[in-house]
Amino acid sequence: MNDSLHDFIRGLPKAELHLHIEGSLEPELMFALAQRNGVTLPYASVEEVRAAYAFSDLQSFLDLYYAGAAVLQTEQDFYELTMAYARLAMADNVRHVELFFDPQTHTVRGIAIDTVFSGIARALRQARAEYGLSSRMILCFLRHLSEDEAFATLDAALPLRAKYADLWIGVGLDSGEVGNPPEKFERVFARVRELGLHVVAHAGEEGPPAYVSAALDVLKVERIDHGVRAEEDAALMQYLAQSQIPLTVCPLSNLKLRVVKALGDHNLARLLRAGLCVTVNSDDPAYFGGYMNSNFIAIADALQLSREELVQLARNSFNAAFVPMSQKLIWFDELDAYQATAAAADESR
Ligand SMILES: [Zn+2]
Repeated sequence: MNDSLHDFIRGLPKAELHLHIEGSLEPELMFALAQRNGVTLPYASVEEVRAAYAFSDLQSFLDLYYAGAAVLQTEQDFYELTMAYARLAMADNVRHVELFFDPQTHTVRGIAIDTVFSGIARALRQARAEYGLSSRMILCFLRHLSEDEAFATLDAALPLRAKYADLWIGVGLDSGEVGNPPEKFERVFARVRELGLHVVAHAGEEGPPAYVSAALDVLKVERIDHGVRAEEDAALMQYLAQSQIPLTVCPLSNLKLRVVKALGDHNLARLLRAGLCVTVNSDDPAYFGGYMNSNFIAIADALQLSREELVQLARNSFNAAFVPMSQKLIWFDELDAYQATAAAADESR
């Protein structure tokens, strides 16, 4: 595909709505933190870690992901992790990120939940002040754990709500999908909604379209994370198109975890052309081979997306963000101006 389309993608203003901060832990930082904290990793070198990134499915990835997360111990560790991501996001022209974090991955190891919040929030506030990167935090429950454990995590987080009111705006559901249907978390999500927090959930990645329907009907989520298997249910597709419930799709993740055999088989273009509010995201970029622009470029090449479709994907990402409409309008204007400038440059060529 042509270089000019790649340049167009690099300069495109965009929002990332599906990013697990623990999944942005690059092997180099993993080793540096392991050494600083005296953690022994089951790998001898950065190269060995990268070689282990040949996943067969979601679970094989999760095993490595939880091993890597063990190096994250202090507030400074979470700060450095988040700052590293923020710099890469800025380089990719990401204007806004809604970052997922998994407190249960850390509290189970004896890390205080405020340590997790504090390190992430310090980096996000600094990135906002220094680079103008807009951000929010979404606390995720691990779905392989029980609903009681989700309630305990919510109870532990709530006293921190005022302290992080500028950032923590929602709750999500992640980790091993199959066998852990949305219904398992019906009561805790009801409580979260009562508290006025936004709700999202992973569904229809490896799990069936029924999980997408249940996330909508039972958990009453405002966005679906992944959702690519919704295509198997025509009525659900119709509902998603009509309601404009956004899908946060992650192309390189789907390839790496074998949700699709090749990116050319990915249904992102079909979902977009069916009128769904589709967005492009990086999921766990350190593990899946790329951040935002890598995802955009790979899927644009594989599916021959047009410039108009790429702009639509970016517009969808701003539209799907949990921010006031006044802020969305600023980003829409920026997007229009970017598109107009690119078109004018074409004509003068
Ligand atoms: Zn995810």
